[in-house]
Amino acid sequence: MARYTGPVCRLCRREGLKLYLKGDRCYTDKCSIGRRNYAPGQHGQNTKKLSNYGTQLREKQKVRKYYGVLEGQFAEYFNMADNMAGKTGENLLKLLELRFDNIIYRLGFASSRPEARQLVVHGHFTINGKKADVPSMILKVGDVVAIKEKSQSSDKFKALIVNHKRTAPQWLQVDPDNFTGRLIAEPTKEDIELPIEEHLIVELYSK
Ligand code: SF4
Repeated sequence: MARYTGPVCRLCRREGLKLYLKGDRCYTDKCSIGRRNYAPGQHGQNTKKLSNYGTQLREKQKVRKYYGVLEGQFAEYFNMADNMAGKTGENLLKLLELRFDNIIYRLGFASSRPEARQLVVHGHFTINGKKADVPSMILKVGDVVAIKEKSQSSDKFKALIVNHKRTAPQWLQVDPDNFTGRLIAEPTKEDIELPIEEHLIVELYSK
């Protein structure tokens, strides 16, 4: 399945909550959710009770869109989570939080996850001093992410660091002066900002 390239605010409106896909705009009153909080399209304002399957599907789609993951890759994460020790749903969320592009966003080195993905692909970062341009890489505790020296002087990164409004979560340590961040612990369910009922996703994939 191809990556969605249409208007991203529609994705939030479809799920009925903010997925923070547009950077700073999401924190202003220009956010579409505040102004038109109903699903997009001709029948968007029709309210219909969802079936069990529909509820599970919407939960999965919400999480998938939030992290910007394609359908097949999401299913792979689920299989990985299922093979790990512990609760499958929590493992799944942990894997998604540990994605390279998500960590770049959480460190404040990008204003949204879609932007983080793009910056990673364009090769602006290193992991433990080595070039890294794959957004889906799963990082581990102790890894150090840095903005490449050549990119540090760009207006883009200067503005991101200076206007840094979001605070990094406790499991990450950010050093904006040196353009680096370190993973100091694994994220837990409580560290995830989106309200997620991960058991619905587990039920969906267990059918
Ligand atoms: Fe979603 Fe941001 Fe658009 Fe609001 S502005 S609807 S949070 S992408």
